[in-house]
Amino acid sequence: MAAGLQGIISTQAAPGRECGTCTLCCKVFQLPELGKPAGVWCRHCTQGVGCGIHATRPAQCRDFFCLWMTDAAMPADWKPERSKMVLSVFPANGFIYVQVDPGFPQAWRKAPYYDQLRRWARELVEKGRHIIAFVNDNATLIMPEEAISLGKMKATDRFMVRKGYGPNGVTYSVERGQA
Ligand code: SF4
Ligand code: SF4
Repeated sequence: MAAGLQGIISTQAAPGRECGTCTLCCKVFQLPELGKPAGVWCRHCTQGVGCGIHATRPAQCRDFFCLWMTDAAMPADWKPERSKMVLSVFPANGFIYVQVDPGFPQAWRKAPYYDQLRRWARELVEKGRHIIAFVNDNATLIMPEEAISLGKMKATDRFMVRKGYGPNGVTYSVERGQA
């Protein structure tokens, strides 16, 4: 694969990677154990510092490392506090989910991110994998040449990408299924 986004599910931080002042995963994800919805700061988080209940934090927090933490090839620009996006591999399907800070909902469309996301999408689509950007539960499928709105969806929702051919080359359409 190209530099970055090896897409390996890992719970180990890559050498030299540390969260430092990043706390973005404490905002973007839902945390049912604490009744925390997606897109709002956890009540235990001190932004830019860390978790106030570190020793007793829920397993979901304990077990999570974003892709930037686990993949040393991910460029520095992709550190979540800088990119405003938390990338992770969804274990059930190997898709890359991009959880965007709702305070910066267009972050994924900006340079250098959107071009890189489309390059990664081109590599992943050959393997039947996809990249989906979420702003809370509003999803967009990122394909090599375009971004396709999926509307509201959960990470576990199923969908199928159909490949077609139009006057300008390959086209993709999406069919939603039941969760
Ligand atoms: S988003 Fe990644 S780098 Fe930021 S705090 Fe969470 S695990 Fe650490
Ligand atoms: S419990 Fe701690 S680690 Fe988990 S989301 Fe809240 S502040 Fe972050």
